[in-house]
Amino acid sequence: MAEDQYTFQDPTKRFPSISPPEEQDQPEPGLDEWLNPHTDRGQDSYRGTGRLEGRRALITGADSGIGAAVAISFARESADVALSYLPVEEEDARDIVKIIEESGRKAVALPGDISDASKAKEMVAKAVEGLGGLDILVNNAGKQISCERLEDLSDEQFDETMKTNVYAMFWITKSALPHMEAGSSIINTTSIQAYKPSPDKIDYATTKAAINNFSKGLAQQLAPRGIRVNTVAPGPFWTPLQVSDGQPKEKLPQFGKSTPLGRAGQPTELGPAYVFLASPESSYVVGETLNVNGGQPTP
Ligand code: NAD
Ligand code: MG
Repeated sequence: MAEDQYTFQDPTKRFPSISPPEEQDQPEPGLDEWLNPHTDRGQDSYRGTGRLEGRRALITGADSGIGAAVAISFARESADVALSYLPVEEEDARDIVKIIEESGRKAVALPGDISDASKAKEMVAKAVEGLGGLDILVNNAGKQISCERLEDLSDEQFDETMKTNVYAMFWITKSALPHMEAGSSIINTTSIQAYKPSPDKIDYATTKAAINNFSKGLAQQLAPRGIRVNTVAPGPFWTPLQVSDGQPKEKLPQFGKSTPLGRAGQPTELGPAYVFLASPESSYVVGETLNVNGGQPTP
């Protein structure tokens, strides 16, 4: 039998401890297609057991990395998926659309820049139309550009990081809510950076703390309506964001090695966390931050 996420195994060895070469650079947002080494998004291993039967999910940043792994997991768990991504990521998005369709589910492709309010709102409307409703929203798109000195952090970058990571989440959630009934689930991607900020990620880490806080407040507001809000806080996961100036280049070979598990995470290792929070099986889990970070202590 082929290995899947249920195969009993040593987590330190489930995936190799990668040493990505520092001589790789991609213009933002970066493509999975060109990443060295490639990532594991569960395309060959994630086995569904019907945990999201018939659900309709919108996932932002679903073309690559974590969002792509979540999209594949959801489709394998029998959900239809709308994928939001930037137009330049069409190549990556097409791969994920194909995997979703091969899993027997519907895929709705939604290219567009969600850091623009009108486009973000339009994107939600198209998702609802394409899926015939909405039960799950995953705000996962994100911008992360490393910058060593605050004096070099441009006003434009600060603004774009806020718009992409925080404003878009607000616009998209606000537009999606009228379509979400009791039983629906909202999951936002935060980060270990929310409470352990790296000195070179001031703007980014600030947004991740905001996402955590926004989610914990909104979770209380929406719980009486039967809509659950939770977050997932990944540690170091190997994705295109890391090589499109998300990390200082010299840090790439060591990426993820300082975690207790001794290796970077592969995107597919996040799939089950999002599936759990999306599914009614987590009915009493509200306002939670689910850390998936290789063993780093969290508050
Ligand atoms: P990724 O590059 O694969 O995904 C980020 C995606 O965001 C892109 O694919 C892109 O489609 C989308 N995006 C960015 N700007 C956009 C815009 N203006 N309009 C529309 N879409 C836009 O990288 P990833 O690491 O999978 O990132 C996914 C999320 O996970 C991000 O929120 C990131 O902050 C978070 N995260 C990642 C890590 C990690 O180690 N990789 C750790 C913690 C949190
Ligand atoms: Mg991408």
